[in-house]
Amino acid sequence: MSTTERPRILVVGGGYVGLYAARRIQKKMRYGEATVTVVDPRSYMTYQPFLPEAAAGSISPRHVVVPLRRVLPKAEVLTGRVSTIDQDRKVATIAPLVGEAYELPFDYLVIAMGAVSRTFPIPGLAEQG
Ligand SMILES: Cc1cc2nc3c(=O)[nH]c(=O)nc-3n(C[C@H](O)[C@H](O)[C@H](O)COP(=O)(O)OP(=O)(O)OC[C@H]3O[C@@H](n4cnc5c(N)ncnc54)[C@H](O)[C@@H]3O)c2cc1C
Repeated sequence: MSTTERPRILVVGGGYVGLYAARRIQKKMRYGEATVTVVDPRSYMTYQPFLPEAAAGSISPRHVVVPLRRVLPKAEVLTGRVSTIDQDRKVATIAPLVGEAYELPFDYLVIAMGAVSRTFPIPGLAEQG
């Protein structure tokens, strides 16, 4: 983790929204204006629209994932899950995959943790799909 006096823009979730938000924020920033930190338990973004093709074997699974550190070389990418956010103190608690949870201060917050897929009310889909 970098120790910096720059303001930190914390992006929670490195999926589709988090990755593109971080890229666009960085494009608009002046050099050294802020630290963009992306936190996700996975070190890669999954391009979900291609999952059916990967499952069907039409494309390779590695073509569905994008390593966050490769596409965000100027960002601080932390592998872990954000468990709590204290808006008053402007501190997030991060549970890394290994080791103790720790607090990370932030100045600006982007929440991009995705959603839970909805199962349409099609009889048998949840059981068989
Ligand atoms: C099979 C399939 C096909 C699709 N096809 C299309 C399509 O054709 N066109 C289209 O526009 N959309 C499509 N979508 C939808 C599209 O993939 C989603 O809208 C998009 O991925 C949503 O982006 P997101 O960043 O909100 O969520 P995600 O991409 O799901 O990213 C959320 C990220 O947050 C992370 N996260 C979750 N909890 C925490 C936490 N506590 N701390 C830190 N990180 C956390 C997750 O690990 C994940 O990386 C499809 C989805 C699926 C599943």
